Order: sequence, then structure tokens, then C-alpha cells
Amino acid sequence: AGAVEFRDVHFAYDPARPILKGVSFKVPAGKTIAIVGPSGAGKSTISRLLYRFYDPQGGQVLIDGQDVRDVTQKSLRHAIGMVPQDTVLFNDTIAYNIRYGRVDASEEELETAADLAQISGFIARLPDGFDTMVGERGLKLSGGEKQRVAIARTILKAPPVLVLDEATSALDSHTEREIQSALDKVSQGRTTLVIAHRLSTVVNADEIIVLQDGLIAERGTHAVLIAQG
Ligand code: ADP
Ligand code: ADP
Repeated sequence: AGAVEFRDVHFAYDPARPILKGVSFKVPAGKTIAIVGPSGAGKSTISRLLYRFYDPQGGQVLIDGQDVRDVTQKSLRHAIGMVPQDTVLFNDTIAYNIRYGRVDASEEELETAADLAQISGFIARLPDGFDTMVGERGLKLSGGEKQRVAIARTILKAPPVLVLDEATSALDSHTEREIQSALDKVSQGRTTLVIAHRLSTVVNADEIIVLQDGLIAERGTHAVLIAQG
């Protein structure tokens, strides 16, 4: 389960400025597609259309052959796990934030997810800014640490479809490598859309599409795209 398809998708936030001008691609269940392209090309917009933060003005977005407009919001949230660029944490412990989406998870599952995301050291703590109520100093989390909370949440939720929006962008290179290997493990057997700036971060994708000026300018494996320069 978890095949994703964009069929001739047209989208504009502002009618005067189209962002996607007929984008089509298929990700078979369990495969990984990478979407690369310059900043502002519409990469994140693709993830927002999949999650139905917006609907396209033309074309269709499908999960397992079903138009996402016909899928309930609840099952869509069950089906898709997002690791966004900027994670907003809830006013509660890091553990609570990880459990969100899988409240029935066991303590052991929670710890495994936290371990893989390398945040087991502080899951009992509160994020910064939420400390006054309990008279405890909150944790000031870096962008990378917040991203790891989102990664742990997604590992625990283990949805059929994963959307990694430049998921390791806020991490230093050592942490990035370790998180990347954790993400590689979770994405095994799951449909994965990786949104990335650089080709070098998506070497293992089954297909890479390059978005430019609202259209897919190039597509192929990493080796093919590199060979073309
Ligand atoms: P990318 O992820 O490739 O950097 P985005 O999909 O985030 O690009 O954005 C594509 C374009 O749409 C950008 O020019 C961006 O400024 C614009 N944009 C993004 N979100 C909105 C919004 N909510 N309202 C209006 N314009 C937006
Ligand atoms: P995101 O923008 O990636 O959804 P959140 O931190 O808000 O960021 O949510 C992360 C998780 O919360 C997702 O995996 C998703 O399953 C779940 N979620 C549930 N309801 C919503 C919602 N209305 N908006 C966003 N995420 C939601």
C-alpha cells in the first residue's frame, strides 16, 4: 500500500503566478522518489498537495489509485508521515511530541524511535518556552534537534508513505549521516518522497525528478542525471 501519483497537476497560490504547470509522476508502493530543484520551484508545494493542505486547480493527486479528495482527512493523516522543514512542537514533553500520531505505542517502541533519532537523552523534558507552568527550565532545541523529534515521531508512526522535506537540512554533517541511516531504515519498504536541494543527498532514490519553472525538466536515476551533467 502507499502508491502515490500526481497526474497533470496544476497549482498556483496566486492565479497570476502558477507554481506547478502540469506535473506528473508515479511512485510505486515502497519506492523512493526524490524531488530536486531550485528554491521556490514548488517542491514543498508537492508535499502540501499530497497532505491536502491545498488542493490542485487542475489534475489529480492519488494514493493507491484514489483521489486524495475522496480520502478522509483521518486516513490521509494515518497514511502519510511528514518530516517538515520546520517542526512546531506541542506544549508538552518531547515524549508526548513523539507519541503524537501513535498514542498507543509502548514505552519500548518510544525508546527505540528516540534512540534511532538520537534524542533519547531528553525525551522527558519540555521544549523551551513551555517551562513556566511547571517551574522547570525548558530545553532550547536547535532546528536539528526539533527535526530529530519529527523524525522520531515518524519512525514511531511508521506510515505507508513518508515525506521527508529536506529532512536533514538543519543537521550538522556528522549527525546528518547518522540520521540519514536511521531514515534509510524507516523508509525501507515504504513509499518515500524526499524533497532535496542537492542531487548528492538522494543518490539511492529509485527515481529523481528535477522541477524547474513549474514543470519536470529532467527525470531519471542519480547515475543517469549525473552522466547528463
Ligand atoms: P520549494 O520547496 O521548491 O523551495 P515551495 O513549494 O515552498 O518551493 O514554494 C514555491 C513558490 O510558492 C515559492 O515562490 C514560494 O514563495 C511560493 N509560496 C509558497 N507558499 C506560499 C503561500 N502559502 N502563499 C503564496 N506563495 C507561496
Ligand atoms: P506536519 O506539517 O509535518 O504535519 P506537524 O508537526 O503538525 O507537522 O505534524 C506532524 C504529524 O502530525 C504528522 O505526521 C501528521 O500525521 C500529524 N497530524 C495530524 N493532524 C495534523 C494536521 N492537521 N496537520 C498537520 N499534521 C497533522
